[in-house]
Amino acid sequence: MTIQVRNLCKAFGDFVALDDVSLEVPGGELVALLGPSGSGKTTLLRIIAGLEPADRGAIFFQGEDATSTPVRERQVGFVFQHYALFRHMSVFENVAFGLRVRPKAARPSEAEIRDTVMGLLELVQLDVLARRRPSELSGGQRQRVALARALAVKPRVLLLDEPFGALDAKVRKELRRWLRRLHEEAHVTSVLVTHDQEEALEVSDRVVIMNDGRVEQSGTPEEVYDHPATPFVYGFLGDVNLFHGRVGGGRVSIGRGTLDAPEWAGAEEQAAVVYVRTHDVELAASPAGAASLEAVVRRVRAYGPLVRVELDLVEGGRSIEAHIPRARCERLALARGRRLFVSPVNPRIFAEPA
Ligand code: ADP
Ligand code: MG
Repeated sequence: MTIQVRNLCKAFGDFVALDDVSLEVPGGELVALLGPSGSGKTTLLRIIAGLEPADRGAIFFQGEDATSTPVRERQVGFVFQHYALFRHMSVFENVAFGLRVRPKAARPSEAEIRDTVMGLLELVQLDVLARRRPSELSGGQRQRVALARALAVKPRVLLLDEPFGALDAKVRKELRRWLRRLHEEAHVTSVLVTHDQEEALEVSDRVVIMNDGRVEQSGTPEEVYDHPATPFVYGFLGDVNLFHGRVGGGRVSIGRGTLDAPEWAGAEEQAAVVYVRTHDVELAASPAGAASLEAVVRRVRAYGPLVRVELDLVEGGRSIEAHIPRARCERLALARGRRLFVSPVNPRIFAEPA
C-alpha cells in the first residue's frame, strides 16, 4: 500500500518538530527514515500511524485521504524499541493476541489462529520457543516476537521505530539482515525509523534523510550515498574530511594545492568547503600533481581490511583521516611523524555558508 505524506507541519508549543515534510513510500517497499536524534522521525511516524494529529498537511493511504482516519482503522502494525510484550503470556499467546481480541464476528477460528501464529513463528525462526515466556528469551528473540505479533493482524503498513536500538551491535546486524529477508517474504509496506546510517543503507529500498524537522534528501541508498544533495547528508552518511578553500573559475584551491572543479566554471570566486570521503584520500611519498597537499602522519590504526591514518596538513594545520588498503600502507612505510602527500579524489564542493 502506497503512503503519501504531503506538507506535514507539527509544532510542540514554539518548537517546530516537522516543517513542511513531504515523502512517498511506494507500495511493498521498505523505506528508512534516517536522521539524528531530535530530527522529527518519531513524530512523523506517529502522525502516519494516527497516534498524533498534524497541525497541517495530509496523509494518503493508497491514494485515499487518511489524515483523520482513527488509528484502529488504519490497519497499522507497530514495533518499538522497547518490546512491550505481555510478560505473563507465552510467545504463542503474544503473537495470537491481536487476533483473539477481535470482535467475535471477525475473529478467526482456533485452528486458523494456530496456523497463522505458527506460520509467523516459523518465519521468525522461533516456532520451537512458542511456549516460552518473554523473560526466557534474549533481546533479539523478543524483537522477533514483536515483529511476528505486529504481522499477525495482517497490517497494511508496518511501522518500526528504532526496533533494534536497545540491542548490542552484533545482534543488531543479524536482525537487520533478518528484517530484510522477512520483508522480501511478506512485502508489507514498511517504514523503519533509525539514526544508524549503516542500518538504513543496508536494509531499505529507499532512504529519507531528516534533519531539524525537514527532509534533506530521499533516494535509493546508492543515490544518497554517492550523490549527497547537501553538506549535512554528506557528513551524516559516511566518514568524511572537510577541506576549506576557495572556488571559482573552474578550480578550487586548498592551501597551495588546486583541484579541477568544472561545475564551478561560471561561478565567482568564493569560500568553499570541499568534502572528501576517507577512502577517497590518496597518499603518496612524493607530490603527485597540483592537487597534492603536504601532511604529517599523526596516528596509524592498522586493524581490519583498511588502515586508518590520521594526518595533520602542513598548511592550515587541519587534521584529516585516510582509509587505505593494507598493502598500500606497507609500501609507504607509514609511521608517526612521516611526511607524505595527500590527494583528494572525488571531491564534492559546497559554497561555504555565509
Ligand atoms: P526523533 O525521533 O528524530 O529523535 P522526535 O520526533 O521524537 O525526534 O522529536 C523531535 C523533536 O520534537 C524533539 O526535539 C523533541 O524534544 C520534540 N518533541 C517530540 N514530542 C514532543 C512532545 N510531545 N512535546 C514536546 N516536544 C516534543
Ligand atoms: Mg525517535
